[in-house]
Amino acid sequence: MSNIAKNIESIKGKITPNIKLVAVSKTKSDAEILEALESGHLIFGENKVQELVDKYEILPKEIEWHFIGHLQTNKVKYIAPFVKLIHAVDSLKLMKEINKQATKSNRTIDCLLQFHIAKEDSKFGFKPPAAKATLGSLEFRSFQNIRIVGVMGMATYTSDQNQIRMEFSRLRSYFAELKDTFFAQKPYFKEISMGMSADYKMAIEMGSTMIRIGSSIFGPRS
Ligand SMILES: *Cc1c(COP(=O)(O)O)cnc(C)c1O
Repeated sequence: MSNIAKNIESIKGKITPNIKLVAVSKTKSDAEILEALESGHLIFGENKVQELVDKYEILPKEIEWHFIGHLQTNKVKYIAPFVKLIHAVDSLKLMKEINKQATKSNRTIDCLLQFHIAKEDSKFGFKPPAAKATLGSLEFRSFQNIRIVGVMGMATYTSDQNQIRMEFSRLRSYFAELKDTFFAQKPYFKEISMGMSADYKMAIEMGSTMIRIGSSIFGPRS
């Protein structure tokens, strides 16, 4: 068995079957992705539109592609025909474009709302009031081809375990609040995408349903 396949097996051995593993293959070659695929793994994540489109076209169509990076509105059209889940949706404007392109492709696209939970400054991610205003808006409610299935966040890059725990716990409480307020009757709203190579064990302790792992599977990126 290849090292990549072994790494995937080892991670899957540490998580329960209800937690989804997204193998983050950004910067990695088609051959490396094929090695992972040969171990039976089907879910891969990319954070650049062009790279994702190139890989989608070349690699087997059974792959379930997730877009995990910041998505620019003008690039939605390139991935709308095939993307399985968009992890980092953080504006009404982006939702509107996803809905439009999904409609053109005759699809409904599943998305996660990205929240800003880390201490680090970042332009990306909702704060709870903006997320609630968006979900409550008439415009959002008119979108027929986008489905919000949960939340996503990234913890601060730090060795301070209490800090990471606090941030993941905050994301879980945002999830719970949105569930109560907007998705109480919607069983599909169930995903909390949190946890990367360095912090996925903590993320799982704090209720993650989806972990996004790159370097622990494919090795360090150059
Ligand atoms: C790169 C990336 C990951 C994976 O990071 P690793 O530390 O290599 O596991 C997870 N999530 C997002 C959003 C990323 O960009």
